Amino acid sequence: MKGFAMLGIGKAGWIEKERPVCGPLDAIVKPLALSPCTSDIHTVWEGALGDRHNMILGHEGCGVVAEVGSLVKDFKVGDRVMVAAITPDWSSLEAQAGYPMHSTGMLAGWKFSNFKDGVFGEYFHVNDADANLAFLPDSISPEEACMLSDMVPTGFHGVELADVQFGDTVLVNGIGPVGLMSVAGANLRGASRIICVGTRPACREAAKKYGATDFISYKEGPIDQQVMELTKGAGVDKVVVAGGGVESFEAMIKALKPGGKIGNVNYLGSGDFVTIPRVEWGCGMGHKQIVGGLMPGGRLRLQKLASLVECGKLNVKHLITHRFEGFEKVEDALMLMKDKPADLIKPVVKISD
Ligand code: NDP
Ligand code: ZN
Repeated sequence: MKGFAMLGIGKAGWIEKERPVCGPLDAIVKPLALSPCTSDIHTVWEGALGDRHNMILGHEGCGVVAEVGSLVKDFKVGDRVMVAAITPDWSSLEAQAGYPMHSTGMLAGWKFSNFKDGVFGEYFHVNDADANLAFLPDSISPEEACMLSDMVPTGFHGVELADVQFGDTVLVNGIGPVGLMSVAGANLRGASRIICVGTRPACREAAKKYGATDFISYKEGPIDQQVMELTKGAGVDKVVVAGGGVESFEAMIKALKPGGKIGNVNYLGSGDFVTIPRVEWGCGMGHKQIVGGLMPGGRLRLQKLASLVECGKLNVKHLITHRFEGFEKVEDALMLMKDKPADLIKPVVKISD
């Protein structure tokens, strides 16, 4: 089969590989739609995970079941399925401890385009199929389902980590597709004011639709100073970090009220240290928490997040700005993600209906 792969750091291209082998608990899926992620860019062009050779990229997609293992109970060949970017081993001790994303090791629930071939192949392999696949509802298009693989669950996980409550003032640092889903999630959770950091006009327009109330630009002075001006010196209750780099945390701590929480879902692709300002962190006593997490994955979560789309409370179509047709267009979609033109939020490739 063909796949679009990381050939080495800084290099990507088409390769030929054997179709993946289906174990007793697994499924093999043929994609219906695929979407590239900013993480694929960090992986190939920053070498953020280290070197990988001939590893098929991609972790956002949905498809049709082509094969199931002998122990798979709920799915059969021909079922249309959603799959999350993170596909944990649900019987692991880490999953039992409540951290499926770290099953068998830190971040090891992230298998696609990390420890094994990703979804940008003519077929892809899903471990623990009964726990990691979910039926694709008729009312959700394959393109929308791609947004449920990673953008919705990751953006929403940032909101969970920041523990957003009714009436909170929330700062969302970065409003690419992940941050936009954090805006939508904070809004659904009852935030009153949602201050967004990001400059691309397409993202700002979408953010307004998802509930943003204020915008600031990281290009126009320190973020914390701008937050303090907007909040008349009060700061924010919660922060979701979905953009920026290792240097972003200083401003986040400064902008946060004592007792506030920072939920980070940003993939820090480079730099060695995150700096925490001592005084604004209450000299270590400010009850300002920072939690960084990879999204959990799993069938139940996919079903629940899809139900928000089905009932009309979440419209993921605002994320999709560029559409392609045909498997071979995966390359163009990924390159577009790398170049990030100003009008881009998320590209998606439709393979079949
Ligand atoms: P984008 O690159 O599309 O968006 C990044 C956002 O951050 C933009 O709004 C950008 O603003 C803004 N930004 C850039 N520089 C700064 C800065 N110095 N300070 C504040 N904001 C800044 O990324 P995505 O939304 O696709 O992804 C966000 C992050 O989440 C990525 O690092 C990605 O790898 C990661 N990720 C993490 C996952 C997880 O499970 N934890 C899963 C999926 C993705 P502008 O409008 O000016 O461009
Ligand atoms: Zn992703």
